[in-house]
Amino acid sequence: MIVKVSEIPEEGLSIEGVAEFPRPFADPAWILESLSLRVEKDGSDVLVRGQMRARIPQTCSRCLEPFPFDVVARVDTRYCPRPARGEEVELTPDDLEVDFYADDLLDVDRLLQTETDLGLPMKPLCRPDCRGLCPVCGGNRNVTPCSCEVRPPDPRLAALKELADRLSTRPSPRGGPAEGQDRRPSARTSSR
Ligand SMILES: [Zn+2]
Ligand SMILES: [Zn+2]
Repeated sequence: MIVKVSEIPEEGLSIEGVAEFPRPFADPAWILESLSLRVEKDGSDVLVRGQMRARIPQTCSRCLEPFPFDVVARVDTRYCPRPARGEEVELTPDDLEVDFYADDLLDVDRLLQTETDLGLPMKPLCRPDCRGLCPVCGGNRNVTPCSCEVRPPDPRLAALKELADRLSTRPSPRGGPAEGQDRRPSARTSSR
């Protein structure tokens, strides 16, 4: 939806519902669910306030399953006429979000795209306590709890084991560290 700035009435413009937005997003899988905006002029600026809600397909970063994510965004954007080259724009601290319009045209679709992009999670999760994939068997632990033993190797224990293997292979006439590592504890005790 494109709004002509010069045609915004003095009392402002209300945009309710999604009927005027047949395809607001670049990705057709994104769905605009609801929209309520007020568009008002402030001198040559245009203020757009309200809220929107969109349903966006996401992939969980832990279990890799697709899930729908709802972006609920509060819109509060000030549009200034795009400044001519070299011209400076003064921004006041309470102008949280400032954008520009050009040629008397305000692209509301682009606003919705930007707000939705900002509302998407950096690390999507299908649910806050998603248990993710098992690093051993690759199963989705939300669906099938497996009994794989997941224990990060302790570097101190690994060093001790290496030392023990080396000591145990020392008396062997032809033993080397590589061979010793494969030795079973029973073999080690019998060689003593
Ligand atoms: Zn997940
Ligand atoms: Zn597993």
